[in-house]
Amino acid sequence: MQLYYRTVLNHFLANEQCAYGFLKEIYMYNSVYFEISGACNARCPWCQTGLKRISGRQEKPHFVSIEDFRKVVRKFRAKRLISSETIISLYNWYEPFLHPQFKEIVGELHRIEQPFRISTNASKLVLFSGNELQYCSMLRISLPGFSQSSYDKVHGFNFERILENIVGMVKNFRANGFKGDVQLAFLAYQFNLNELAACRIFADRIGASLSASAASFNGLSMMMSYLDNTMPYDQLKKASKELLLYYMDDVVAACPNDWECPQHEVLVVDEHCNIVICCGPDKDEPDYLVGNALELSVEEILAKKEAKKSSALCKKCMSLGAPYIGSNLLRLSI
Ligand code: SF4
Ligand code: SF4
Repeated sequence: MQLYYRTVLNHFLANEQCAYGFLKEIYMYNSVYFEISGACNARCPWCQTGLKRISGRQEKPHFVSIEDFRKVVRKFRAKRLISSETIISLYNWYEPFLHPQFKEIVGELHRIEQPFRISTNASKLVLFSGNELQYCSMLRISLPGFSQSSYDKVHGFNFERILENIVGMVKNFRANGFKGDVQLAFLAYQFNLNELAACRIFADRIGASLSASAASFNGLSMMMSYLDNTMPYDQLKKASKELLLYYMDDVVAACPNDWECPQHEVLVVDEHCNIVICCGPDKDEPDYLVGNALELSVEEILAKKEAKKSSALCKKCMSLGAPYIGSNLLRLSI
């Protein structure tokens, strides 16, 4: 949000009636992350979701109901928190294709002509047949390398099956109205750098773009424990052998004093329809929750989001430079 709008918000919040009439003309988020699925089947050791699976601490999966998903998106549209051009990303911490009614969710977005994006680990193939992917602007497929050995170290899936799924998925998407970008997102670890060339050939074969960036600590508490030197020794030693970390101190040092976290400009909703502070923290973080999207008014959402900027979590996170690293992950040229 522009600084101007924030100032206007503070001024008009004193008069709710007036505020609403004015705010609805100006407040919009261009980007929403809506976690539709509360489950992921991968075992990535540098992701807070994967770590929970590895240690058997995962929560009972919850999937947003079609009714609640519809209510939240329609409310956001009706109250002008989002526009018909806002892109809704159907993921954050989990695997969206595991939602048992994934096709219905997509069908709902198709009905209201809302652009959306999908990111998947390609472990589950969901096939479409109703030309309902017209408004899907991106299919992002994350790969922890390009060999069975790398998949054994990270996702834990059968590599050949994943490749078959990707080929089938891309073909099916394109046959059902999808005109967006298929992006293979190669996550670079120390052990998979020599697999990038083979991934490039595969991406060219299926007409996908390829991005490669350093795998990182996928979870704010893990990242902050690395930056403030409180990470347990065994985890730190493992990180030193698997992740590319050498550049992080330089990135933190280069963060401009007036840099603002871009996460404040994004609306993030979890699988329980809770608006949450941003994409980064886990649910047990005290500053996680903004409030429920079905219950809060537009004014409350905006005011509570704004208040989170001065939360203890944001202060600590900014002082360590964590979001600046997130915005400047090492990119590899391919
Ligand atoms: S990084 Fe993605 S695929 Fe891996 S455990 Fe986390 S959510 Fe699942
Ligand atoms: S400063 Fe950190 S906790 Fe606050 S919104 Fe940004 S990423 Fe999230």
